Amino acid sequence: MLSSKSNPEATEKKVALTFDDGSDTVYTVSILEILKAYGVKATFFLTGENMEQYPEVVKKIYREGHEVGNHGYNHVRLSKLTKENVYSNQINKTAVIFKEILGFSPRLYRPPYGAITKEQIKYLEKKGYLQVRWLSDSLDWDPRENAPEKILYRIVTELKNGGIVLLHSGRGDRSNTVTALPRIIEELGSKGYQFCTVSEMPGEDYFSHISS
Ligand SMILES: [Zn+2]
Repeated sequence: MLSSKSNPEATEKKVALTFDDGSDTVYTVSILEILKAYGVKATFFLTGENMEQYPEVVKKIYREGHEVGNHGYNHVRLSKLTKENVYSNQINKTAVIFKEILGFSPRLYRPPYGAITKEQIKYLEKKGYLQVRWLSDSLDWDPRENAPEKILYRIVTELKNGGIVLLHSGRGDRSNTVTALPRIIEELGSKGYQFCTVSEMPGEDYFSHISS
């Protein structure tokens, strides 16, 4: 059994698995089962519209000890909107849904497609939000690239001393992600990685800070 608990005495190679686009009752739930079986904690970036549809799954994610983050309301390219619109109709709208379901709203957010402007990041930062990037894009969202062994290979080769891995748990067929997940956990575990949530990653390199 792999442990997600950090050991301060170990030379830390940490990895945060992140799953975007949930929640849903098929892939998100299968992913939760696998994470539980391996004792791994992950981070889920959820869209407001999917949370409204599957609030019980959101509660389950949180109850099982995973971190949650804001992925906007309906998966639009934020960079095409005004910063006020991004805040009101995407990030804050989703924050309200988080509050209704979980009683709090997370500070972490990730823009769909990574599409966001510096001005928008700065504006959201003033509102107390922190953008989470990724080091390794598994390409599990790309039908030409997402055979389970390709997902695994890409993650293993891109991670050198840890980082944040982008995976998906909703908005489309994520069965290859589900198939690849136990192998990802076993392979990274055998290479000495410890699994953690995004907030538990050491250093600030994974967050976008825009200084004024
Ligand atoms: Zn997404």
